[in-house]
Amino acid sequence: MSKLEEILTLVRSINEDEFQEQLTHGESLEDVYQELVFLAKKIESKKKRTAVIVEHISNCFTGDFFNYLPISEANDELDVFCMGFNTYIEELKAVMVSKKIVEAINEKLVEEKERSEQLALSRDQFLSNMSHEIRTPLNGILGFTDLLLNSTSLDPEESKQLGYIKMSGDILLVIINDILDLAKIESGQVTLSNKPFNLVQLTRLIHDTFSVKAIENDIDFKIVIDKKVPLVLNGDSVRISQIFFNLISNAVKFTPAQGKIRLKIKFQEEEDESYIIKIVVKDSGIGIPSDKLQGVFNPFVQVNNDASRKYGGTGLGLTIVKKIIDIMNGDIQVKSELGVGTSFTITLPFPKNDYYFSASKSFLEKESKGNAVIDVNKKVKVLVAEDNRINQILVQKILSKFNFDSVAVANGKLAVDAVIQEDFDVVLMDLMMPVMNGYEATSAIRSLKDHTKKNIPIIALSAVVTGSVTEACKAVGVDGYISKPFESEELYNVIMELVTKNN
Ligand code: ADP
Repeated sequence: MSKLEEILTLVRSINEDEFQEQLTHGESLEDVYQELVFLAKKIESKKKRTAVIVEHISNCFTGDFFNYLPISEANDELDVFCMGFNTYIEELKAVMVSKKIVEAINEKLVEEKERSEQLALSRDQFLSNMSHEIRTPLNGILGFTDLLLNSTSLDPEESKQLGYIKMSGDILLVIINDILDLAKIESGQVTLSNKPFNLVQLTRLIHDTFSVKAIENDIDFKIVIDKKVPLVLNGDSVRISQIFFNLISNAVKFTPAQGKIRLKIKFQEEEDESYIIKIVVKDSGIGIPSDKLQGVFNPFVQVNNDASRKYGGTGLGLTIVKKIIDIMNGDIQVKSELGVGTSFTITLPFPKNDYYFSASKSFLEKESKGNAVIDVNKKVKVLVAEDNRINQILVQKILSKFNFDSVAVANGKLAVDAVIQEDFDVVLMDLMMPVMNGYEATSAIRSLKDHTKKNIPIIALSAVVTGSVTEACKAVGVDGYISKPFESEELYNVIMELVTKNN
């Protein structure tokens, strides 16, 4: 191969598309020279464009993001790169714009949130001020009216007139309380408590409160409580009473003489986390027209203005009831027929507690077989096995507060003897005791011959809360477990559930 041919082969092997196209493919020295000149120009132009691109991209890092890269007419791979880069800049710009919009919206939202928090705060402040400002003079009026009513120097006409002042003041207080309560609920200020309470007792209390008025009005008012309703439920007993209070006072208000009112508490079902209880308030009163039925839950709605004037009220009671039930995740339905009567049906979930080893299901199963009748007024007798004298006194004081009888012993051996000799409803067993500890005493009781004594509910009391302790308790046959220190309601709750379960 000649030198010229070698140079030609070398030049033509240069992998530059455009260059290859432009080659004259001649064989002379002149041809090769031309081809080399073209290649040199091409390389020079690319070098310059690459330098521009590099400079441009470096500027990006110093903040000059949004400059587009120049596109040449060469339409080569550098141009492809530049076009891609420009599209990327385009997209980046769009993202930046939407980011700015989102930031502006966020800023506005934060401002709005602060403003509404400020508003809510001043509204709360206003509510509590107003409540205080109105109630204080009203208390003065009512208090002094009471004092005057009790004084002996009044003639009958004066005491009658004072009685009217007192009655009007009482009504005013109810109205103010309702308005403030509703405002409080609506501003989301109401937090419900979740404490153990006795629904059966609460229902009886409501019955006692209204039976005087019912008898006065010649109304037959009875409560019916399903035996399956657990004695101890967790919830906000004050708000539950408020629901009862509003519904029963309406029933009493709108039921004429010789009518009937029934307050029924039913056990609907047991879910994993809660008991579902149904509450029905049914009366044989004046009824509500069907087209007005759903409106009764709206504020200030009174179905019949004449009746309302006659019976009084604000039209807020049912609104408050509905709102409380909503917060409790429950439901309320109303059915009514003019002249026949009205019934409100409430379904409420009551969260379970976790004090028991043996789930309350067994209690309910027993109940549904119908062999247990709960006597709420029965005095519960508790054996307290506890070696620490101070703790003995404390537990016994708490038990007497709940009107329970109790006997205290200082070790496990004495506890077993006491169970054999006397009849108890439940044993509170400390675990660490001299002579015989709580585990041994529980085992000894569980192996007694007498069926009732052998199965007596035993609740372990211990300051040591570990999985192995509760496991060991279960293994020897303890029914429930309370860790020290405990709340008195907690103790009451566990005792009542186990005692009723054992009936
Ligand atoms: P009020 O303070 O007027 O009783 P509520 O919100 O408790 O306010 O009740 C709204 C209206 O619903 C009452 O004014 C009455 O017209 C009607 N209502 C409520 N309960 C009964 C009922 N048991 N029997 C007939 N009407 C009722």
